[in-house]
Amino acid sequence: MSKEQWRRNVTQLKPYIPGKAIEDVKRDFGLAEITRLASNENPLGPSPKAVSAMLRALLDSQLYPESTCRELREKLASLYEMDQDQFLIGNGADNVISLIGTAYINDGDEIIYCTPTFPAYRTITLLLGGMPIELPLTGNLTFDLDRILDSITDRTKLIFICNPNNPTGTIVEKGRLEAFLQQVPPQVIVVLDEAYVEFIELEGYLTGVDFVKKGYPVIFVRTFSKLYGLAGTRVGYCGASHELLEPILAVREPFAVNRIAAAGATAALDDEEYKITILQENKREMVRLAKELQELGYALSDSHANFLFVDMKEDVVNLSNTLMREGILIRPCIAWGLPNHARITIGTAEQNDRLLTALRKTIKTTS
Ligand SMILES: *Cc1c(COP(=O)(O)O)cnc(C)c1O
Repeated sequence: MSKEQWRRNVTQLKPYIPGKAIEDVKRDFGLAEITRLASNENPLGPSPKAVSAMLRALLDSQLYPESTCRELREKLASLYEMDQDQFLIGNGADNVISLIGTAYINDGDEIIYCTPTFPAYRTITLLLGGMPIELPLTGNLTFDLDRILDSITDRTKLIFICNPNNPTGTIVEKGRLEAFLQQVPPQVIVVLDEAYVEFIELEGYLTGVDFVKKGYPVIFVRTFSKLYGLAGTRVGYCGASHELLEPILAVREPFAVNRIAAAGATAALDDEEYKITILQENKREMVRLAKELQELGYALSDSHANFLFVDMKEDVVNLSNTLMREGILIRPCIAWGLPNHARITIGTAEQNDRLLTALRKTIKTTS
């Protein structure tokens, strides 16, 4: 067996390295409890309404799911005042990003985005024989929209904008996105990855929903993994005009989303109160954690998500190994070429305290 048998483009890909699994850390270090602040999961878990809906759905497991997640699309349509045929549901946002790539990228097409960002855009581009055009973020770590505009050529097919950006948590300044969209040539499709968009609190900040309604050639991608606490069940979606969704529908597996996941996501949308609680808790703990980390001497950028991007001023692979022995997981940013940066998910008050205590201990032992 040699790599020559592989599909040629696959030899260029590196497998995604997820945060270390809680089960593995428990076993490797003999720990009973793990605080995972490495994967931007919701520390309070899913809404109880989502859980009961999933339990009910289990009883119908012998039945194939309704292929298009009609009920979920109806709920999304009413929530965002769009049409249900302007939504496509997939097995997580990651799956949706792959589907968008599969539907649109031809050999040699140029796909533009800034880095560091979410790695899925690069993976799907390379797989399909496209050419990733990777530009640096601006000095304040946001997508460099001017430079993206300058990089558009006749071969440009897609532009990915991760907003808020993972791993930096930053957003494009208010008003800038629409000015940008007005300058993008009409044959270029802009994909807004809005996995964390619900955490943005700026009054009047326009998102993919607004841009689709205004008729821009935009596809926005969202997920139930972050705000809604359903990362383990895998539901993501995209919204766009029906014309833009048509080729994506053609490549989507018929039963991409399982019955249990679809039921959970649908019920999660109904629990407005729970959503508000999550947002309030996240905000409160983010402000507190950011302040305490700054007091410990770390440098942070402004986050509009459920995580912080922190310059720890030391090698984070080392530091995260030290923390791991205490049962605390943070995400080193070395895979993005940033050895001193960490991405730290906002946990519960108790989890954040545990992190702060462990960090104070490492500072004491090194000084
Ligand atoms: C987490 C994340 C996703 C993937 O979400 P899933 O629905 O869990 O696949 C996509 N984009 C960004 C920017 C993310 O952080």
